[in-house]
Amino acid sequence: MAKRPSSAEDLADLQDSLRKAGLRSTTARIAVLRRLRSANSPLSHAELADELTPHGFDKATVFRNLNDLADAGLVVRTELGDHVWRFEIVNRRHDEPGHHPHFVCVACGQVTCLAGVSLPPALKSRSKRIGSVTEILLRGRCRNCE
Ligand SMILES: [Zn+2]
Ligand SMILES: [Zn+2]
Repeated sequence: MAKRPSSAEDLADLQDSLRKAGLRSTTARIAVLRRLRSANSPLSHAELADELTPHGFDKATVFRNLNDLADAGLVVRTELGDHVWRFEIVNRRHDEPGHHPHFVCVACGQVTCLAGVSLPPALKSRSKRIGSVTEILLRGRCRNCE
């Protein structure tokens, strides 16, 4: 579990990653980044905006900052077959840039990250011959919908 994201240390850390990515640290960027850090599944713009508008950030601001963070490589965009862009933090410890598989429930739409899971080598080399893989997707029914 991630530690509570409110300490001064955490803020310094967020400011530091923004600076390293060449972005100015603004309250909106910090808020977006902090929320994505504490999430354990990718979030859509709508979900993030719903959570952040009560804190005084409007939807357009959230959207613009999400794109800034994605362009700077701090956040990845994923599209999981339902034409909704979702955003998640790049976890340098576990991932080749953002490329872990996702499980999507066909009944309720819940998305779960399968961080630390990678393609078997045979599948990797086979898929390289076909093209470049942008998403690895598993579809099924989640525990709640089984
Ligand atoms: Zn479900
Ligand atoms: Zn993920």
